Amino acid sequence: MTWSIPLGRVAGTAIRVHVTFFLLLLWVAMVAGAQGGPDAAWQGVVFILLVFVCVVLHEFGHILMARHFGVSTSDITLLPIGGVARLARMPENPTQELLVALAGPAVNLVIALVLFAATGTRPSLAAAAGAFGTGNLVARLATVNLFLLLFNLLPAFPMDGGRVLRALLGYRMSFVHATQVAASIGQGVAIGLGFLGLLGNPILLFIALFVYLGAAAESHMVQLRQVAQGLIAGESMMTRYQALPLSATLGDAADALVRTAQPVFPVMDGQERLRGVLTQSALVARLHVDGPDGAVADAMVPAIPAIHPYQPLSEALRLLQEPPNPPAVAVVGPDDRLMGLITADTIGEVMLTHGVNNRPPVGPARPPGDRAAA
Ligand SMILES: [Zn+2]
Repeated sequence: MTWSIPLGRVAGTAIRVHVTFFLLLLWVAMVAGAQGGPDAAWQGVVFILLVFVCVVLHEFGHILMARHFGVSTSDITLLPIGGVARLARMPENPTQELLVALAGPAVNLVIALVLFAATGTRPSLAAAAGAFGTGNLVARLATVNLFLLLFNLLPAFPMDGGRVLRALLGYRMSFVHATQVAASIGQGVAIGLGFLGLLGNPILLFIALFVYLGAAAESHMVQLRQVAQGLIAGESMMTRYQALPLSATLGDAADALVRTAQPVFPVMDGQERLRGVLTQSALVARLHVDGPDGAVADAMVPAIPAIHPYQPLSEALRLLQEPPNPPAVAVVGPDDRLMGLITADTIGEVMLTHGVNNRPPVGPARPPGDRAAA
């Protein structure tokens, strides 16, 4: 995520903070300070920082459970609305998804129970005043954990409750169908929240919008993956493109970009082997630094993953989505010659022509040109 600052690594997962999080701290300090002076401002900031420690622990609940099922997590980003963990993939087996989704809220439940026991207090609405409240800091933190637990269990994507709902539906129906039903329920919940927000709580309105968009994005993502599972790489790659020689300058590449408007350029050596790809954005960025005489070889991404034309398109999609998020996947023939490239754009076009709502073709994938033989 851009505009995020790395804090460090814990157990192989990078922790980043989005700059808007500092705006939240500043806002809390200002509001609390205006109400109760510098002391209140400090207390408010410390409180928010402690809440975010709980959010990080919640995310590690998901991360450790996912790791238990062999799914790694490259990073988590802290936003003012909470944490976002980037799992390399979501488990598609309902029981695994259920356990991974519940592991985060379970952490908040444990924290709340421990803090309530330690302070000998009970949940109270007065304590829920959060950052601007007074009284026992630990008791307020316990109440906030209870709130985090309930909020995350809202049955709507991108909340954990949305995943719990999909996992439960997944025992009865396909993953795609379960996602669509869960996304529809989630959007209904979002509309309900939006109405409550209109009655006087602007934060609720903001959360409703966030939930609504999250549900739509999740549904689209899953349909994309499903279509990609029914197609093979060879029928979804771009085959007409201009390649650049390894010795090309950025000026040559800029000329080629104007002529072709290609999003990526394969860079080939004298033996017609792929040595890397140059993206439009890298070209433009490097042109500002090195000028037109700069070398394409210095601006390209030197190694991109390669697959064979009869592998499923979902494999290309997986490679594009997983770190280090290459700009393209090469499709190579048996002699390792480049046959085509697959990028997010080419997959998007395949999606358009297949219609994301159509039932994807079923049956084993066959190499291109082998269709009549069936
Ligand atoms: Zn969670």
